[in-house]
Amino acid sequence: MNLVWFRNDLRVNAHRALQQALSEDGPVTALYFLCEKQWDTHQVAPLRRWYVLHSLLELGEQLARMGIELEIVDAGTFTAIPSLLTQRVRELGVRQIFCTREYPLNERRRDEAVAAAMAELDVAIHGVDDSVLVPPRVLRTGKGTPYTVFGAYKRRWDAWLDSHFQPPALTEIADTHRDGVFHDRAVVEQALTRVPVSESLTGQWEPGEKAARQQLDRFVTRQLAGYQKQRDFPALTGTSGLSAALSAGTLSVASCYQAAREAMADAGMREGAACWIGELAWRDFYRQIMAQFPRLSRGGAFRPETEWLQWRRDEDHFLAWCEGRTGYPLVDAAMRQLVATGWMHNRLRMVTAMFLSKHLWLDWRRGEAFFMEHLMDGDFAANNGGWQWSASSGTDAVPYFRVFNPIRQSQRFDPEGEFIARWVPELRHLDNKTIHEPWKQPLLAGEYPPPIVPHQGVREAVTESFKSAKKMYDELGSAHE
Ligand SMILES: Cc1cc2nc3c(=O)[nH]c(=O)nc-3n(C[C@H](O)[C@H](O)[C@H](O)COP(=O)(O)OP(=O)(O)OC[C@H]3O[C@@H](n4cnc5c(N)ncnc54)[C@H](O)[C@@H]3O)c2cc1C
Repeated sequence: MNLVWFRNDLRVNAHRALQQALSEDGPVTALYFLCEKQWDTHQVAPLRRWYVLHSLLELGEQLARMGIELEIVDAGTFTAIPSLLTQRVRELGVRQIFCTREYPLNERRRDEAVAAAMAELDVAIHGVDDSVLVPPRVLRTGKGTPYTVFGAYKRRWDAWLDSHFQPPALTEIADTHRDGVFHDRAVVEQALTRVPVSESLTGQWEPGEKAARQQLDRFVTRQLAGYQKQRDFPALTGTSGLSAALSAGTLSVASCYQAAREAMADAGMREGAACWIGELAWRDFYRQIMAQFPRLSRGGAFRPETEWLQWRRDEDHFLAWCEGRTGYPLVDAAMRQLVATGWMHNRLRMVTAMFLSKHLWLDWRRGEAFFMEHLMDGDFAANNGGWQWSASSGTDAVPYFRVFNPIRQSQRFDPEGEFIARWVPELRHLDNKTIHEPWKQPLLAGEYPPPIVPHQGVREAVTESFKSAKKMYDELGSAHE
């Protein structure tokens, strides 16, 4: 018996582990460990749980039609998995396990414990690097170290893919099992009853592989050509909206890359497709960083000297940021979009993250956690990478003296104030100049707050703080590492 262990790869197409299992002799079965307590520990947002569970329902049905039983085992946490898997492997007579590798530390520890348990049973585990385009340890600098600067990484990444990329295959769905039944459907439905999400939130999204593939087709046909020009404007639908699908694996990143490469054959699409491929490269970049720097999984900063930064602990400021009441319209619109939809535009993720860590001078880890608690696409590597980039504690960090001006960002990327008006209705009546700086207009008291901190002086304060942190680090070392 061959077993496919599904994790964040909830699809049947372009799924290398499943295809390998199907190419072996003997029957194939499938397993998914439900780990709700682990989700609690990892601050997984209710909306993401909802997305994963609904995608599992579709996966179970799809596999049943292929004659493959998807068993859902309620494990609670990762710790329970080795013994539960040992039991099922014995009962089913499994000889080989196929799965997609995962890179954060807890996931790797889980897999090491499982590998040890399976070695005792003489069961082979075949892990594939299918959640990335380039496996994490393949590209190294001339010194043999991991790439920590994106530009240099991207050049090698492109070259490697030019010679190694294999287009993913669609999985043939056998006609013989059209009436196949997903027996553990009720276990997933039961878990769904424990997810506190309202219909106003879920109604905006469509989970599952089928919807993800359709979304990719739609994006390539309608938006990819204009991606480079439109992607920075939050009022437009200029990006793919595929992040949740990519992070839960209802869509393979190889399918995205293949679609973009094919589009590049068309001169009119070339610029947009090349730019979009760059975003897929960022995704791989942060995953290889996560795999090779385990301290990130322990909450550590990529740049150890930044562990000496003395963060403020102003709860009122943190709450104002969470609730979209900072008095900076673009920041507030973005935070309200996050809470109301479970998604935020990339430009705004950078603006709000920089605002929290540089203007409010609050520890970036608090913002990282808040994002995870709300994002449907919450993805440890991308979220941590994005937060540390914005807070200048990470790889490829924006130099710490560079601080986004939230008013300038607003004027540049939401010039008509359209996005702000959508999410901050109390400013809707203002013209496209005043909407970015409403304090210049006498507002009714209580209508919209004045800025909670001034922008002026932030860059100087940040520069000083980073200098002191560096000095402490040079004198005392990395006490927090
Ligand atoms: C502070 C911060 C937090 C973030 N948290 C997450 C997160 O939890 N989950 C997540 O998937 N992305 C995260 N990102 C990256 C990025 O904002 C989202 O991937 C993007 O906004 C998703 O929208 P899209 O699918 O329309 O992207 P598109 O522009 O269509 O990009 C295509 C895909 O490329 C990947 N991608 C794009 N930009 C990045 C990036 N900067 N880093 C890594 N991958 C990228 C995503 O998988 C995305 O779906 C974060 C960025 C920042 C600055």
